[in-house]
Amino acid sequence: TVSIVWFRQDIRVEDNPALHYAAKNGNVIGLYIEAEEQRKEHDESDAKVGLIYDSLLKLREQLNKLNIPLHIVKVETFKDQIKTLENWVDEVSAEGLYFNNEYPLNEKKRDNDVESRITKKGCRVERYDGDLAVEPSVIKNKQGEPYKVFTPYKKAWVEQHKTSRLKPLDAPQKQQYSIEKQVTDDFSKNYRDDIWHPGPIAAMERLQRFLGKVEEYKANRDIPSLSGTSLLSPYLAIGAISVRQCIFELYQHYNQDEGKLYGDKWLSELVWREFYRQILIDQPEITRHKPFNPDAKEVWVDNQEAFEAWKKGKTGFPIIDAAMRQLNQTGWMHNRLRMNAAMFLNKLCLVDWRWGEKYFMQQLIDGDFASNNGGWQWCSSTGADGAPYFRIMSPLSQSKRFDPEGDFIRKFVPELESLDKHSIHEPSDEQRTELDYPAPVIDYKESRKRALELLS
Ligand code: FAD
Repeated sequence: TVSIVWFRQDIRVEDNPALHYAAKNGNVIGLYIEAEEQRKEHDESDAKVGLIYDSLLKLREQLNKLNIPLHIVKVETFKDQIKTLENWVDEVSAEGLYFNNEYPLNEKKRDNDVESRITKKGCRVERYDGDLAVEPSVIKNKQGEPYKVFTPYKKAWVEQHKTSRLKPLDAPQKQQYSIEKQVTDDFSKNYRDDIWHPGPIAAMERLQRFLGKVEEYKANRDIPSLSGTSLLSPYLAIGAISVRQCIFELYQHYNQDEGKLYGDKWLSELVWREFYRQILIDQPEITRHKPFNPDAKEVWVDNQEAFEAWKKGKTGFPIIDAAMRQLNQTGWMHNRLRMNAAMFLNKLCLVDWRWGEKYFMQQLIDGDFASNNGGWQWCSSTGADGAPYFRIMSPLSQSKRFDPEGDFIRKFVPELESLDKHSIHEPSDEQRTELDYPAPVIDYKESRKRALELLS
């Protein structure tokens, strides 16, 4: 007998429940079905698709050593994915189909369709949760409702996590299967593979390197010119590493000291990821461009000029421009700058946060619906536990505080390279003309005043 493991956002051999349990039941073959058109509809970036493709080739190397083939098939839509699965189930006479759940609305609907259609064929469908460190939907407040605020959620998460399985699942044993020809439809895309090495092994190496400096994370995480964060988000987004693997390795790093694990700042960020995923699971309407908070004030204007300048990194605010150019050039942006860039566009330029959310998705190599939507709604004060409406980060004071020497600006806005650490945050009119750097696209003080009036 043979089962099919349908790989999706879980491009890994370890801690992959669908793969682990399928292999316990007999021989397995792996299948990945890229839906190109659907991905475009979901605004996912070429960079992310490129990383996925190359990571699949690395995954295949690992699987093949276990005598597990991996077929890589390209189609257009989710509907085609379902048809492809039906064909494969028939062709290999599969007795089981195994996969790990995805939570956005379209994906959920597709998976339910898959389950009913494949089951009708007499093939068992087994679904697992592999994307969270605690099972979804078990963390509830005293009234049995999902949490809407992070701090009490995290407290409850820690208690729940203490009773959850900490250890990642093993990779499967070597199979009794001979690998014949493997299908490889090409959907490769360009991305910065000099920065983002593909595959689960590269992801684990990155985690281990980061753990060597995790003690400095709290101090360095807000300084964009330092490599103070893990840079693991692209791998977590495509599932080349699991959050459980991250937490387990962190625990090992602290010699299994629970106090250190649960007091760790980096762990807290991983819990933010869980929080936003749980919100998506509990309130899937947010995938329909709805604000999390239905009473949120939405006063956005059609400011195309500011939006275009923002996208290009030509707003005339050096820290915002450096941030946007980092995004455009590398597919990634530092978290402190994501907050600044988002608040700048949304609150100071009054551009709809959905425009920014979409542009981020189209560029980010770590584009992830739950975290991106959560981040944007946090910044625009429409979300769960969002910043209060009057919280508007000042690009100038944030720049001076988090990039005091101007090193980050110099790296991504090279036309300002010659400026000293004082004027680089806010060049004079003469310096702008001389260096061919744009005038500010908005007047900060007036824009702030306007936002406060409209949003209060
Ligand atoms: P680290 O600081 O090393 O954190 C470790 C991991 O924790 C990250 O890889 C990520 O998986 C998770 N994490 C950290 N911060 C957050 C957070 N605030 N919310 C949710 N998860 C978090 N993250 C994405 O993965 N994909 C996105 O599309 C995305 N869009 C964002 C949009 C906005 C407007 C904002 C404000 C934040 C967004 N984030 C997103 C969250 C955060 O900025 C990135 O996860 C982080 O910068 C990734 O870098 P890192 O891996 O070095 O993070």
